[in-house]
Amino acid sequence: MDAVAILVAAGRGSRAGDLHGVKQYAEIGGRSVLARAMQPFLAHPFVEAVQVVIHSDDADLYDQAIDGITSGKLLASITGGATRQQSVLAGLRAVERLAPRVVLIHDAARPFVALQDMESVRAALRDHIGAITAVPVVDTLKHGAAGSQTILGTVARENLWRAQTPQGFRYQDILQAHLQAAASGRDDFTDDASIAEAAGFSVALVEGSERNFKITTPDDFKRAERMIEMPAEFRTGTGFDVHKFDAGDHVWLCGVKVPHIATLSGHSDADVAMHALTDAIYGAIADGDIGAHFPPSDPQWKGAASYIFLEHARDRVKARGGKLINVDVTMMCEAPKIGPHRDAMRARLAEILEIDIDRVAVKATTTEQLGFPGRREGIAAMASATVRLG
Ligand code: MG
Repeated sequence: MDAVAILVAAGRGSRAGDLHGVKQYAEIGGRSVLARAMQPFLAHPFVEAVQVVIHSDDADLYDQAIDGITSGKLLASITGGATRQQSVLAGLRAVERLAPRVVLIHDAARPFVALQDMESVRAALRDHIGAITAVPVVDTLKHGAAGSQTILGTVARENLWRAQTPQGFRYQDILQAHLQAAASGRDDFTDDASIAEAAGFSVALVEGSERNFKITTPDDFKRAERMIEMPAEFRTGTGFDVHKFDAGDHVWLCGVKVPHIATLSGHSDADVAMHALTDAIYGAIADGDIGAHFPPSDPQWKGAASYIFLEHARDRVKARGGKLINVDVTMMCEAPKIGPHRDAMRARLAEILEIDIDRVAVKATTTEQLGFPGRREGIAAMASATVRLG
C-alpha cells in the first residue's frame, strides 16, 4: 500500500472548556471536528486507508462522529495510550499489516488541512525520510521568566517555524524511530518529527497555511465557526415512477401495506411512491437514480423491500455532509384510497429518513378517470426532496 493516514484523536484536551466537551468530537458548523479533519484524507486518492486512534472512553462519541461516513478507506478505530506518543505508536502498529510505504500522521483537532498540504508533504518524502507542514514565526518572541511576567530576553525568530500536521514519514523509518524512543523510556515527545529528529533522520519543512490551525481554546472554536460560515446551499430534486397492476390483494405504498383488489408488479416490492421519493433524493444531490444504484438486472434486488433504496439515498446525503430538509410525495390513482393510510405512510417515511414527520408530506389525487391511472391500470407517483448542503 502506498500511503496510510493516522489521525490522533485520543487526547483529552481540556483547554477548550466544558462548553465543548472532548474537543475533537465537538461540532463546528454541525459537523464534528474529527469528521472534518478526516475528510481530506478520505477524499484524497493517494491515501489508501485511514486509521483513527481514539481514547478508550470515546467509542460512542466516535461512532456518532463517523455516522454517515461510508468510505471503505476508514479502518476500525483503535484505542490509544496515555500520551500522544503512545497513541501514534499504537496507530503505527495497527497499520503494519497493510505494509504502507509512507504514513501521514495528523492531529484530529486540525479540521482545516488542505489537500495541498498533504500533497506537499508527500512530495517532500521523495528526498527526505520525513516532512512536516509548518508556518514561519512572524511575531517577535519573548522569553519570559518562570513564574512571573517579566521578559528575560528576546528570541531571534529567524528560521523559527511552528510545527503543524500532517507530518509524513517513510513508514518503516518512523516505526523504528518510535520503537527506539519507547525503548529509551522517553514518552514526552509532542510531535513525530521530534522523534524522527532524535533518531537522526532528515525531516523537511514544507510551508503550510495559517488556516490549518489546531483547535485548543474556546476562541479557536469561534474562529473555526467563522471560517466555515457560509450561506447554506439548498438543492431540490424530483422523482417520478409508474408501476402497473397485476393480480393480487395488496400494494405497498410509502412503506405501508395497503389491501387492494390488485397488486403492483415490479422487480422489487413495487412501492411506486417510495421509488419516486428515492429518486427525488438522489436527484437533489445529482447522484444517479435507483436503477444506477440497484440495477434491475441484479437478481439480489428481486422482491426487495424498497426501504433499502430509500435508506441508501438517505445515507448518500449524509455522506455528502448534507441534511434532508423536507420531502413531498403525490400518488396518482383512483384506488386504493390513500387518505386513511396517509399518517401511517408519513410516519414510516419519517422513520426511514430519520427526520421529523412534519417534514414529510404524502398526498394523493385521482386523474379524473383519464389516462392509465384513470383506467386503473397502475399507479403513478411523483416526489420532491430538498437537501441542505454545507
Ligand atoms: Mg419503480
